[in-house]
Amino acid sequence: MEQCIFCQIVEGKIPSKKVYEDEHVLAFHDISPVAPTHVLVIPKRHIASLMEIAPEDHVLLGKIFSAIQTVSRELGLAEKGFRVVNNIGEDGGQTVHHIHFHVIGGRTLTWPPG
Ligand code: ADP
Repeated sequence: MEQCIFCQIVEGKIPSKKVYEDEHVLAFHDISPVAPTHVLVIPKRHIASLMEIAPEDHVLLGKIFSAIQTVSRELGLAEKGFRVVNNIGEDGGQTVHHIHFHVIGGRTLTWPPG
Protein backbone atom coordinates (compact mmCIF):
# COMPACT_ATOMS: atom_id res chain seq x y z
CA MET A 1 0.00 0.00 0.00
CA GLU A 2 1.26 3.45 -0.90
CA GLN A 3 2.37 5.35 2.19
CA CYS A 4 0.79 8.61 3.25
CA ILE A 5 2.73 11.58 1.86
CA PHE A 6 2.56 13.52 5.14
CA CYS A 7 3.71 10.47 7.15
CA GLN A 8 6.69 10.38 4.78
CA ILE A 9 7.34 14.07 5.50
CA VAL A 10 7.18 13.34 9.26
CA GLU A 11 9.69 10.50 8.76
CA GLY A 12 12.00 12.72 6.68
CA LYS A 13 11.62 10.52 3.59
CA ILE A 14 10.18 13.47 1.65
CA PRO A 15 11.82 16.87 2.20
CA SER A 16 9.85 19.78 3.60
CA LYS A 17 10.52 23.34 4.73
CA LYS A 18 9.77 22.99 8.44
CA VAL A 19 8.69 26.00 10.47
CA TYR A 20 7.75 24.26 13.74
CA GLU A 21 8.27 20.84 15.28
CA ASP A 22 7.68 19.24 18.66
CA GLU A 23 7.11 15.68 19.83
CA HIS A 24 3.58 15.47 18.42
CA VAL A 25 3.15 18.27 15.86
CA LEU A 26 4.90 19.37 12.67
CA ALA A 27 4.39 22.51 10.57
CA PHE A 28 5.90 23.07 7.13
CA HIS A 29 5.42 25.32 4.11
CA ASP A 30 2.80 24.18 1.59
CA ILE A 31 4.40 23.16 -1.72
CA SER A 32 1.76 25.13 -3.70
CA PRO A 33 1.09 28.26 -1.65
CA VAL A 34 -2.18 30.13 -2.22
CA ALA A 35 -0.97 33.23 -0.35
CA PRO A 36 2.38 34.82 0.62
CA THR A 37 2.34 32.60 3.72
CA HIS A 38 0.81 29.11 3.53
CA VAL A 39 1.84 26.58 6.14
CA LEU A 40 0.38 23.17 6.97
CA VAL A 41 0.16 22.09 10.62
CA ILE A 42 -0.24 18.35 11.18
CA PRO A 43 -0.13 15.76 13.94
CA LYS A 44 2.84 13.44 13.48
CA ARG A 45 0.56 10.46 14.07
CA HIS A 46 -1.60 9.52 11.11
CA ILE A 47 -5.22 10.62 11.52
CA ALA A 48 -7.10 10.60 8.21
CA SER A 49 -9.41 13.57 8.79
CA LEU A 50 -11.30 15.57 11.38
CA MET A 51 -13.96 12.87 11.27
CA GLU A 52 -11.44 10.39 12.69
CA ILE A 53 -10.67 12.53 15.76
CA ALA A 54 -11.39 10.53 18.93
CA PRO A 55 -11.91 11.79 22.49
CA GLU A 56 -8.36 10.70 23.37
CA ASP A 57 -7.06 13.04 20.64
CA HIS A 58 -8.40 16.18 22.32
CA VAL A 59 -5.09 17.04 23.99
CA LEU A 60 -3.35 16.58 20.64
CA LEU A 61 -5.83 18.97 19.01
CA GLY A 62 -4.96 21.55 21.66
CA LYS A 63 -1.27 21.11 20.87
CA ILE A 64 -2.01 21.64 17.17
CA PHE A 65 -3.80 24.90 17.90
CA SER A 66 -0.96 26.03 20.20
CA ALA A 67 1.42 25.32 17.32
CA ILE A 68 -0.80 27.39 15.02
CA GLN A 69 -0.49 30.31 17.47
CA THR A 70 3.29 29.95 17.59
CA VAL A 71 3.68 29.67 13.83
CA SER A 72 1.38 32.61 13.12
CA ARG A 73 3.34 34.82 15.51
CA GLU A 74 6.72 33.71 14.22
CA LEU A 75 5.71 34.25 10.59
CA GLY A 76 4.29 37.70 11.34
CA LEU A 77 0.63 36.85 10.68
CA ALA A 78 -0.79 37.46 14.14
CA GLU A 79 -1.13 41.24 13.98
CA LYS A 80 -3.14 41.59 10.76
CA GLY A 81 -4.87 38.22 10.95
CA PHE A 82 -4.90 35.09 8.89
CA ARG A 83 -7.06 32.05 8.17
CA VAL A 84 -7.02 28.45 9.43
CA VAL A 85 -8.66 25.95 7.07
CA ASN A 86 -9.37 22.26 7.46
CA ASN A 87 -10.75 20.50 4.40
CA ILE A 88 -12.72 17.31 5.00
CA GLY A 89 -13.52 14.67 2.40
CA GLU A 90 -14.40 14.95 -1.25
CA ASP A 91 -16.76 17.93 -1.19
CA GLY A 92 -14.46 19.65 1.31
CA GLY A 93 -11.60 19.45 -1.20
CA GLN A 94 -9.37 17.21 0.90
CA THR A 95 -6.72 15.60 -1.31
CA VAL A 96 -4.24 14.45 1.34
CA HIS A 97 -5.86 12.09 3.81
CA HIS A 98 -3.74 12.95 6.84
CA ILE A 99 -5.46 15.67 8.84
CA HIS A 100 -3.86 19.08 8.28
CA PHE A 101 -4.68 22.67 9.09
CA HIS A 102 -3.85 25.24 6.43
CA VAL A 103 -2.49 28.48 7.95
CA ILE A 104 -2.90 31.09 5.24
CA GLY A 105 -2.04 34.77 5.39
CA GLY A 106 0.10 37.65 4.23
CA ARG A 107 -2.65 39.21 2.10
CA THR A 108 -6.28 40.22 2.54
CA LEU A 109 -8.31 37.03 2.10
CA THR A 110 -11.70 36.99 0.45
CA TRP A 111 -14.86 35.19 1.56
CA PRO A 112 -16.69 32.98 0.69
CA PRO A 113 -14.23 30.39 -0.59
CA GLY A 114 -14.92 28.61 -3.86
P1 ADP B 1 -6.05 20.71 -1.57
O1 ADP B 1 -4.99 19.92 -2.26
O2 ADP B 1 -7.31 20.85 -2.38
O3 ADP B 1 -5.58 22.00 -0.97
P2 ADP B 1 -5.95 19.52 1.05
O4 ADP B 1 -6.72 20.33 2.06
O5 ADP B 1 -5.94 18.03 1.24
O6 ADP B 1 -6.51 19.79 -0.36
O7 ADP B 1 -4.48 20.08 1.07
C1 ADP B 1 -3.36 19.34 0.75
C2 ADP B 1 -2.22 20.33 0.67
O8 ADP B 1 -1.00 19.63 0.72
C3 ADP B 1 -2.24 21.16 -0.61
O9 ADP B 1 -2.29 22.55 -0.28
C4 ADP B 1 -0.91 20.76 -1.28
O10 ADP B 1 -0.32 21.85 -1.96
C5 ADP B 1 -0.09 20.32 -0.09
N1 ADP B 1 0.99 19.40 -0.39
C6 ADP B 1 0.93 18.25 -1.11
N2 ADP B 1 2.13 17.65 -1.14
C7 ADP B 1 2.98 18.42 -0.42
C8 ADP B 1 4.35 18.34 -0.08
N3 ADP B 1 5.14 17.33 -0.50
N4 ADP B 1 4.90 19.32 0.68
C9 ADP B 1 4.14 20.34 1.10
N5 ADP B 1 2.83 20.49 0.83
C10 ADP B 1 2.25 19.54 0.07
